[in-house]
Amino acid sequence: MKDREDFVMSDANNLIANEAKTIVQAHLDRLGEAKEHLLTEEAKLEKFELIKAELKKRNAVLVAHYYCDPEVQELAELTGGCVSDSLEMARFGRDHPATTLVVAGVKFMGETSKILSPEKTVLMPTLEATCSLDLGCPVDEFTQFCDARPDYTVVVYANTSAAVKARADWVVTSSCAVEIVEHLDSLGEKIIWAPDQHLGRYIQKKTGADMLLWDGACIVHEEFRARGIANMKALYPDAAVLVHPESPESVVDIADAVGSTSQLIKAAQALPHERLIVATDRGIFYKMQQAVPDKILIEAPTAGEGATCRSCAHCPWMAMNELDGILQVLQRGDQEIFVDPALAERAKLPLDRMLNFSAGLKR
Ligand code: SF4
Repeated sequence: MKDREDFVMSDANNLIANEAKTIVQAHLDRLGEAKEHLLTEEAKLEKFELIKAELKKRNAVLVAHYYCDPEVQELAELTGGCVSDSLEMARFGRDHPATTLVVAGVKFMGETSKILSPEKTVLMPTLEATCSLDLGCPVDEFTQFCDARPDYTVVVYANTSAAVKARADWVVTSSCAVEIVEHLDSLGEKIIWAPDQHLGRYIQKKTGADMLLWDGACIVHEEFRARGIANMKALYPDAAVLVHPESPESVVDIADAVGSTSQLIKAAQALPHERLIVATDRGIFYKMQQAVPDKILIEAPTAGEGATCRSCAHCPWMAMNELDGILQVLQRGDQEIFVDPALAERAKLPLDRMLNFSAGLKR
């Protein structure tokens, strides 16, 4: 596998990394504060009723990611919306008859919904919720990198801006990335992969494809450590380890199952183990526990298990999706996602390629 040996991290990237750190710190500082999920059951149900009425008024549906807080996922289920991974969120929003989509997730998910459903209004509870992978792949640098290698096929993860998608030949999510890269490799194509280096390395190992890897990372999954998980395994030797491939290679190597969020939920059902150590955002526990009500789910430790670090397995940007934000955006109709139509048209091509390919996989 080649690395981008001639690519030097610029000041711009350093600034982006610093911005990401500041946002993460702000999130960690808020961890001690009262959170929405500490609402009494009665107060929560009252908010659900208010939101339900607003959804109806706007002919809107709530589309939530697995990493949102449990009450947001519960609300999506109760109101006929969906809780899923980013691929399924995109499909669901496109195919649903509602004229407004309320996307509880991060910005690239809202943009993807808008690209696939340009005629719909796409609202988000907060426009500040982004992703370290998206931040770490600025379009100008990425375009320059790709333009210098015209003989490569450009494959980008869904966790990228609309502009980066528009520069790509293919968009993939973690649930279909291996199959798509396998397909491209069988055609003899060389691949530029961006932005998640860990997922890229995992796919390269699985497929043997010729891949140049961008050096982005997810700030949540990057915190998992093989040693911490091994220590936990020593405590619970009967437990299976489930790992999302955005985690470092050493963590992936000790997993009993590796996969996207949907694939990990399926693995939780399929594995015979009663105890599961789960290395992905803790938001997934809501749906995973529904799928395996009798199993014991344990959060994999992060690097912050010491006295000096306060990292946690919860995405600070996903945590910005709160019930009050959902209610407010429905009442005000602000926080709308716009994507330049010409850009959207270009970004739709690689997205459609992915959706068509994965629909073929399902058949
Ligand atoms: S969990 Fe990681 S990959 Fe997902 S949105 Fe948050 S930072 Fe991005």
